[in-house]
Amino acid sequence: MIDLDLTARDKELIAEARAQALLARAHARDFEYAEDKFLPHEYPEAVGRPDVRELARRHVDETSGFKIINALLYLEDWYGGVPLREYPYSLGNTVLRIAGTPEQEARWKDQIIAIAMTEPGGGSDPASTRTTATWDAAAGEWVLNGDKIFITYAGTCDAAIVLAHAVHQDRKPGLSTFLVERGTPGFSISPQFRKMGIRHEDTAALSFVDCRLSEFHHIAGDLKKTLQSFSKSRPVVACYALGVSRAALDLAWETLAPHGILPEYDGDPLRQPAATARLMDLEADWEATYMSVLRAKWVEQNEGPGKIESSMAKALGGRLARRVTQTVVELIGPAALSEDILAEKWFRDGRIFDIYEGTGEIQRLLIARHILGYSPRDLN
Ligand SMILES: Cc1cc2nc3c(=O)[nH]c(=O)nc-3n(C[C@H](O)[C@H](O)[C@H](O)COP(=O)(O)OP(=O)(O)OC[C@H]3O[C@@H](n4cnc5c(N)ncnc54)[C@H](O)[C@@H]3O)c2cc1C
Repeated sequence: MIDLDLTARDKELIAEARAQALLARAHARDFEYAEDKFLPHEYPEAVGRPDVRELARRHVDETSGFKIINALLYLEDWYGGVPLREYPYSLGNTVLRIAGTPEQEARWKDQIIAIAMTEPGGGSDPASTRTTATWDAAAGEWVLNGDKIFITYAGTCDAAIVLAHAVHQDRKPGLSTFLVERGTPGFSISPQFRKMGIRHEDTAALSFVDCRLSEFHHIAGDLKKTLQSFSKSRPVVACYALGVSRAALDLAWETLAPHGILPEYDGDPLRQPAATARLMDLEADWEATYMSVLRAKWVEQNEGPGKIESSMAKALGGRLARRVTQTVVELIGPAALSEDILAEKWFRDGRIFDIYEGTGEIQRLLIARHILGYSPRDLN
């Protein structure tokens, strides 16, 4: 039976992660006007504080499971605004694990591997991919050509896993993935994008011009299964959204408390001050999203990645962050637009969770297909 109660160890790790997130607040604005900077491996405040991921691994039997507690620790990282210690997480590493051979995994498992799917022509539909990898039979190499945009970890990754149309004389043409190491001739990375929010995340474009790769760099595993790696990552993105939303809600309660706006969990919404009722409504939304994340991660932990559970968590997370951060700015008023408090940062940061790793619209499309029993051809 599904059990979403957290263990004592989970709670202890989360409390330590929250304490570290509050220390990280000192650096929450470090990247606002310095997007070319990259996150340090750890900030000085991390020294002497335990590494919560390491503790979670060591005591995993006392947690709800690593997949669950790890996701909840990301929530805390985002509560801080920047992570006090960086835990590079990239979908490219998951794709390598799922689709790579044991030899490929052994070679690149300790590297940060960006995932490069989105192209200037569109990111929601992989079928619109224009990047090609053409087999050069004489040289026994793949030749990669194309452009990718909005790639997270572009500036700091060791390699990128790139989605491309594979064209080979002796094989059926189709979409496949290729690992391209930093420094490979023909592979270039643009300067960092200037973004509305999440400026601590490095994001840039990748370009491939006659980039030659050996067959070993072809991550040729089942593509459908490969794309299912999103089922693991989407609830984690929902955790990011929960972290930002929690931070914004806490800031709102703290700012409004001197005006008599206090949480009233048993209160009648019709008799509460309007601000209290609006915040309580958002608290309920936060709880629902949190439960959906726990459910998605519980399913993954116990039964394997659940596509629909993960889309539901992601769809709720993206919507939650937009609703919460917008309402908090409204309730705090003009002061929320000043850089003296973090409300406007949460507002800008909160927009992304409904965009990357599949937009909110795409999640709702996947959920609708599932509920209605429609195929992608029926509903697209
Ligand atoms: C900061 C940042 C980091 C990112 N990191 C990465 C990364 O690491 N790797 C990577 O590959 N990509 C990354 N992306 C790209 C991101 O995944 C895409 O932006 C996203 O998938 C949407 O693709 P698109 O921007 O091309 O929009 P489109 O696919 O062109 O969509 C435009 C709009 O139409 C809507 N839409 C599209 N199709 C449908 C449909 N069938 N039904 C209803 N509505 C639809 C979309 O929801 C969206 O609102 C990142 C983006 C950002 C902003």
